Amino acid sequence: MKLIKATHFIIISTFLLISPITAFKVVLSSPNATLGDGHDHDHGEYLEESNQWKNYFENLSGCAFGDEAQGLARLKQYFHHFGYIDDHDEKLMNFSDVFDSALQSALKTYQTNFNLPPSGAIDAATLSQILRPRCGVPDIINGSSTMNSGKPTNHNSLHSTAHFSFFPGQPRWAPFQQSLTYAFFPGNNLTDPIKAVFRRAFSRWAAVTPLTFSEADSYPEADMKIGFFVGDHGDGEPFDGVLGTLAHAFSPPDGRFHLDGAEEWAVDGVGGVDLESVAVHEIGHLLGLGHSSVEEAIMFPTISSRRRKVELARDDVEGIQVLYGENPRGGAAVPAAPTTQERERSSDESGGGRLRGGRRWGFWGGIVGVGVFILL
Ligand SMILES: [Zn+2]
Ligand SMILES: [Zn+2]
Repeated sequence: MKLIKATHFIIISTFLLISPITAFKVVLSSPNATLGDGHDHDHGEYLEESNQWKNYFENLSGCAFGDEAQGLARLKQYFHHFGYIDDHDEKLMNFSDVFDSALQSALKTYQTNFNLPPSGAIDAATLSQILRPRCGVPDIINGSSTMNSGKPTNHNSLHSTAHFSFFPGQPRWAPFQQSLTYAFFPGNNLTDPIKAVFRRAFSRWAAVTPLTFSEADSYPEADMKIGFFVGDHGDGEPFDGVLGTLAHAFSPPDGRFHLDGAEEWAVDGVGGVDLESVAVHEIGHLLGLGHSSVEEAIMFPTISSRRRKVELARDDVEGIQVLYGENPRGGAAVPAAPTTQERERSSDESGGGRLRGGRRWGFWGGIVGVGVFILL
């Protein structure tokens, strides 16, 4: 009784100098559609069953310092990817399965960033967070965290710490570039409903800044370039297929926003991964925002595949307005309360995130590089 209509694009692309041949496949759920296999099952279950990272990590709960367990090396790779274990600790892909001090330290920092007790142990809450779908933008770049662990101790007020962050050097689009254009990789042949998802995502940022966004005809000449790609597409952040890397975006003024064409993307938040939710987050990176520890914020690193999270929270608005200022056209004011809309379809509640009031500051020197959503 479910409307099933999935569109498959399989395109061999000769696009780009950086990607000589890129096979592209994207499965997009049409509105009101769920999984395209005709089975009446819960999509969350499907995702969990398909979560290869869960297989790697699920047996690690309870592991403590000094233990040796299969999967710990993989967990170190995970933390390395997101900046919690730097290259100097151990060479990439050569991690051991020993619970060492580097992993313990990574866990503590990770737990701090994700509002968890910094035990340094693999407890159930931490493992649950690790398994949660997330943006792969490193939370720590060059040893500096964009999130809780990187916050300065505030001696002036208990309620004045903002959580938004920027890329290193705080790059932004130049003042003369307030009318930004975007275009879709022509080889993807995206449909109008799909393009409308991105249009809505851009409009949320336009509402609170002086920026405007319009679709350009010329892909090469557009400020921001959006495309679905599969596997290694030449930028050092290869996509890894279904339920792996979902998307990534680059800091200003790069403009590249890539999505994993192997994923099942949903345009309405039902089934698959909600495309608009991912788009709003990645556009935040395109504009210069890093990650935030405020769980309600769009720029919080994780997003459940069972949720639709598309509205900017106050933290997002304050962050973007540090870079660009308010909307002179009289756009939306800073929300007084968390406004994230989330569709709960299960008990997978991430817990009460905190939204702290905010004095604006320009202290955060930035952090965070390429955005990569990982669906674990
Ligand atoms: Zn991100
Ligand atoms: Zn890419």
